[in-house]
Amino acid sequence: MIPIAKPIIGEKEKSMVIEVLDSGIIASGSYVRKFEEKFSRYCNIREGIATTSGTSALCVALKSLGINSGDHVLTTPFSFIATGNSILYCNAKPVFADIDENTFNIDPDKIEEKLREDDKINTLLIVHLYGLPCNMSKIMKVVKEYQIYLVEDCAQAHGAEFRGKRVGSFGNISCFSFYPTKNMTTGEGGMILTNDKEIAENCRLYINHGMSERYKHETVGFNYRMTNIQAVIGLCQLEKLDKLNSKRIENASFLSENLSELEWLLIPIVPRGYKHVFNQYTIKVSDRNSFVRYLSKNEIGYGIYYPKTICNQPLYRKLNLYERFSVAERIAKMVVSLPVHPSLSTNDLDYICGKIKEFER
Ligand SMILES: *Cc1c(COP(=O)(O)O)cnc(C)c1O
Repeated sequence: MIPIAKPIIGEKEKSMVIEVLDSGIIASGSYVRKFEEKFSRYCNIREGIATTSGTSALCVALKSLGINSGDHVLTTPFSFIATGNSILYCNAKPVFADIDENTFNIDPDKIEEKLREDDKINTLLIVHLYGLPCNMSKIMKVVKEYQIYLVEDCAQAHGAEFRGKRVGSFGNISCFSFYPTKNMTTGEGGMILTNDKEIAENCRLYINHGMSERYKHETVGFNYRMTNIQAVIGLCQLEKLDKLNSKRIENASFLSENLSELEWLLIPIVPRGYKHVFNQYTIKVSDRNSFVRYLSKNEIGYGIYYPKTICNQPLYRKLNLYERFSVAERIAKMVVSLPVHPSLSTNDLDYICGKIKEFER
């Protein structure tokens, strides 16, 4: 079976983890600080706050902006559930705008429509889905015009760029995940980035029991602290991130060159000026069921990200948050992600393309 994702853990990660374990300082410590510094510098942002996951990063990021009940937060309906849930954690109302069918990302024109009709929206939470940046020139324009906060969910887009600028450096605050299927991993883990000192301070409070000084608690916080064990893995992975991303991009090019001739599927697009880091390589097919059965039969791992829009999930329906989206709902029925991760061999890629070309509908 060729897996849909496989993290690359090297000897350096292993020996550094042992070093941390031997040091006795295995919870948060100097490696966490160093990882925060290195990762924020990589994205050209001043402050980094490491957390336990991308989900806790998103939760804390929204809280640090003061998002609360009564606020409406606009986001994409086509993402992992954690994107929408982070808004619910703040007791705010998630509202959605449809996506662009070619990029899979939130459609800037639809953002503007929503902002015109709902003046309770004070925050836009965008997702650079699959590793492809959103249209940041249009989004920055709308955000300025309507004077709302911008939060970036970069959980799938470490190192992605829009016109030479890294994602995570556009918004008031941005969030990353280091889950094993992402472009780099710490096992579980997350990171918040911001240039705003006050927002960063809020984040540090929220991840550590609302504690400003020893046993002085200012607010209801959480324990969302990263450990030194995770941080040291993150430091090693960050050193390799550009190389790992280059391999993903190479693999994606190989797939696209070989699959573009097939008229029954649509390969992912990369608009000019966008650096797509291919956390996922996602094609569109109309007869998905028989295609994925064929992939399984031939031992090719695949993923369906995501089979339903967020607001079409039972939870969101129960909360009366369902909205119909003609594009996102149609796309949700068509997407299939193929293996593109850096562990793939040339043989694997040849095999995947060969089998897909032999698929008879
Ligand atoms: C993975 C992911 C998250 C959540 O990250 P975890 O580290 O798994 O909590 C949030 N948003 C998106 C778009 C993701 O892909």
